[in-house]
Amino acid sequence: MLDVQPNAGHVALAQLEQHIPSVTIITQNIDGLHQRAGSTRVIELHGTINTVSCSAAEHGSLAWPDSPNLPFCSVCAAPLRPDVVWFGERLDLAKIQAAELASQTCDVFLAIGTSGVVAPAATFPMTARAHRARLIDLNLEDTPLSRHARHRLRGTAAQLLPALLAATWAE
Ligand SMILES: [Zn+2]
Repeated sequence: MLDVQPNAGHVALAQLEQHIPSVTIITQNIDGLHQRAGSTRVIELHGTINTVSCSAAEHGSLAWPDSPNLPFCSVCAAPLRPDVVWFGERLDLAKIQAAELASQTCDVFLAIGTSGVVAPAATFPMTARAHRARLIDLNLEDTPLSRHARHRLRGTAAQLLPALLAATWAE
């Protein structure tokens, strides 16, 4: 995963902060590519693959050890695990609340490449819409969200987002 680079969509969202400093990214991705592209306000609902923590107790998060072997906690010797949310585990309530607040208070909500069916991520666009934000659906195809959107743009994030920025802030 370290070999994967941010695409033009990640870069465009990071550049969006130059025009709108309060941009908040809510993502289900765990790859850290938004931060690597330069985004500063990122809520990773499903955690991050880029750090590990003790699988047995609250012994803190740390960067991946530089070793091909399974790493173990230096405090209690339990195996370390990536800081991602695995199936059957609960999402971080503080992150859900932060995403909810951002959705309630935004003026524009871009729903980008989401299926629109997996909770809670699928609820945030509808929360934003209920609070009178303009909902823009960017996706390859229609989703359950699409009919609620003010605008529907069809394509990949890497195609659509740079074009959207260029069209919005053309010199
Ligand atoms: Zn431990």
